[in-house]
Amino acid sequence: MKLFDTRASELRDFVPIEPGRVGIYVCGPTVQSEPHIGHLRSALVYDLLSRWFEELGYQVTLVRNVTDIDDKVLEKSKESGIDWRVLAQRNERIFAADYQRLQLRSPELEPRATGHITQMLELIQRLVDAGHAYQVEGSADVYFDTASWSQYGELTNQKPEDMESEEAAGGKRAPQDFALWKSQKPGEPVSASWPAVFGAGRPGWHIECSAMSTYYLGKEFDIHGGGLDLRFPHHENELAQSQAAADGFARYWIHNGLVSIAGQKMSKSIGNTVSSAELFELTSPAAVRYYLASAHYRSVLDYQPGVLAEAEAALDRLHGFVDRAGRELAATQYAEIQQPELPADFVAEMNDDLNIPAALAVLHETVTDGNTQLDELDFKAAALSRDQVLRMLDVLGLHPTSWSSGGSAEHAVLDGLVQNLIAERNSARAEKNFDRADQIRDQLAELGIELSDGSSGTHWSLS
Ligand SMILES: [Zn+2]
Repeated sequence: MKLFDTRASELRDFVPIEPGRVGIYVCGPTVQSEPHIGHLRSALVYDLLSRWFEELGYQVTLVRNVTDIDDKVLEKSKESGIDWRVLAQRNERIFAADYQRLQLRSPELEPRATGHITQMLELIQRLVDAGHAYQVEGSADVYFDTASWSQYGELTNQKPEDMESEEAAGGKRAPQDFALWKSQKPGEPVSASWPAVFGAGRPGWHIECSAMSTYYLGKEFDIHGGGLDLRFPHHENELAQSQAAADGFARYWIHNGLVSIAGQKMSKSIGNTVSSAELFELTSPAAVRYYLASAHYRSVLDYQPGVLAEAEAALDRLHGFVDRAGRELAATQYAEIQQPELPADFVAEMNDDLNIPAALAVLHETVTDGNTQLDELDFKAAALSRDQVLRMLDVLGLHPTSWSSGGSAEHAVLDGLVQNLIAERNSARAEKNFDRADQIRDQLAELGIELSDGSSGTHWSLS
């Protein structure tokens, strides 16, 4: 598989540190507010990447952190008057619920920053000992000394003097130096500070991810991901401090593109943010998933009116073919679904830096072929198309069974049971045992399940 490594600025063959295993760390949300469309897209990219690695036979360890302490969380807490811990957990739960609605596979680990202060302090101490960090006199503030690290700027290919950075103030030696440990400021809650040899305080944002990623994935690990907006300063600083502390850190850096709104950058100040709640009001979670996956992960995804309707129509076409094939193949020797190999083109596109738009094109072509095969009563070929379509949908997290009626496992079981009763009713009718056929219908109706007989067979719904 090839991945575009942002640090090398080129496509690279993916070679894992340990054969058969891949460790991925992705910067998760800062939970100062509810999720928006950009958060969902970013999380989905790493879900799709993890699913693909699993399809390729890798054992995946995906770590997605929760930044539950930083300046933004404390600012929001001050504005709203809500305890920062309550605010962070409340938003974290909304993120979790939205991730679940999109059917993202759960990361193996979801560490919270507040649970890893020990690891952060240990890393800061190593940097101080190695001469790459300094404590400001008379304060608990500790900064990374960028001048001490000649590779600083390598991730984003910038020279320190060209970087946009805050003025050197409060004991900082250079404008590019960044905080590793921040002393408790007047007015900040005591609950947001932890004891340390440097003095009571809290971690800087960048050190959180360096400490958590290496704690769970090892001092050197395979992939570090995040949104493109995190390349600088966040990832540049993570890389510098981790390598200055003699950790190998990430071998591959991947960055997902951002979401724009009708061609404009999404921003709170313009007021054009689209929350995940708004998206889920407009269409089904499956269509949201399809839409968010439909652009290449590195490109900008532009949100416009009508895009969700297009996603719905595309998804209907895919699922509609599966339904049709199911009905038309039911009475043939090809009724049973098999697990064929994925089409070679699909595999090639997914291996090409996770080219999902091109993989989706292969999926749609297979549906076109499948419909033609059904028209021509070529059931053998149509069955293969149906099975391949289902395999591809499964890889993309769009398998119809998992999405029908909310996509629960319970629904799948219920469907199986009702389908058995529908089959029994059909046999009863064929034998002209109409009493038994009516009995089945009535029993289901009592349970709130309605049957409707149409030209394509019998369908059920909850009344
Ligand atoms: Zn991070």
